[in-house]
Amino acid sequence: MTDSAHILVTGGAGFIGSHLVERLLADGNAVVVIDDFSTGSGENLRPLAGNARLRVIESKISTCADLPDLAGQAKAIYHLAAAVGVELVVRSPIHVLETNLHETEVLLKAAALRRVPVLLASTSEVYGKSEKPVFIEEDDLLIGPPRHTRWGYACSKLMDEFLALAYARERSLPVVIARLFNTVGPRQTGRYGMVLPRFIAAAKRGEPLEVYGDGLQTRCFGYVTDTVEALVRLQRAEAARGEVFNIGGTEEVTILDLARRVIEVLDSKSSTRLVPYAEAYAPGFDDMRRRKPGVEKLAAVTGFRPGTTLRESSGGRRKRSRSRFVICRRQRKRTASTPFKSCFQTKKAPFSGRS
Ligand code: UDP
Repeated sequence: MTDSAHILVTGGAGFIGSHLVERLLADGNAVVVIDDFSTGSGENLRPLAGNARLRVIESKISTCADLPDLAGQAKAIYHLAAAVGVELVVRSPIHVLETNLHETEVLLKAAALRRVPVLLASTSEVYGKSEKPVFIEEDDLLIGPPRHTRWGYACSKLMDEFLALAYARERSLPVVIARLFNTVGPRQTGRYGMVLPRFIAAAKRGEPLEVYGDGLQTRCFGYVTDTVEALVRLQRAEAARGEVFNIGGTEEVTILDLARRVIEVLDSKSSTRLVPYAEAYAPGFDDMRRRKPGVEKLAAVTGFRPGTTLRESSGGRRKRSRSRFVICRRQRKRTASTPFKSCFQTKKAPFSGRS
């Protein structure tokens, strides 16, 4: 391994992956992306096209002939390639399970030959139906029964975690596991179920925002650049090796309130419409009532705590930030990413930045 070695990002054409690639290039790294463009898209990397330090390989990990070299010669690997999104999970469970189990197995095996550090992106879904007010990395996990495909997704990512930690123990592979909570930002698509891009698209079309269940379930939405910052710091931190970390925003919001905020921020004429889960997904669908990450461990090890929050609703927000709101609306004409940005505000993180 040399200093000029590349960083390998699997799933680098996805929503979070493309932001990570952008960041790694901006830091001066050479980056190789392996992505099969299934849920990701070449479009996500278009702003980086022509960058001589970026190489993009359209392939599954398991069918990439160069994988042994690309993994073995890398100075670090971010493994983000996975089949994600609640709707995809409900619609195509075989694809989801096979992808998440098999591709990770192949990647870890390749990385282990030369002990190249791997950051594995996992998910808050592994906490399952736990009703704890805040999820901590050491918590017991409460997965539902196998007849609900959603829990199969959770288990597939949990098996990825077990496998990565097994490689850490048995083969001394440096691994760190990042459990990503709901993450939002530019380039996220609503095609596989994610709520905020769906709400934004409906609000822009003036159509009803479809809120599933009673809308009183809560989530914490983290902004993608915060997620990327946390990922980069975790990969660099020696103390993170062999450990699991939550990454996510900590501001809780009901989905109904989220819908109202989107309508307000985008000045939309849309209304909200409650849709039963059985109609939205499948009969007997299990949703979590709340899901909030504890980020103390992340903060302790990296010195970073996600600090971007949703804009407050109500007239107070408008009075305070009318000018910024107007700026956001003007920019919206030029870039599709702006509706996401206009739903967020950046607070200075309470931690200074150690990396
Ligand atoms: N949701 C919704 N309308 C949609 C998509 C999702 O009300 O069009 C709800 C979904 O049932 C869940 C929350 O929004 O309670 C977040 O959904 P998402 O799929 O984004 O992430 P999850 O937290 O379920 O993994």
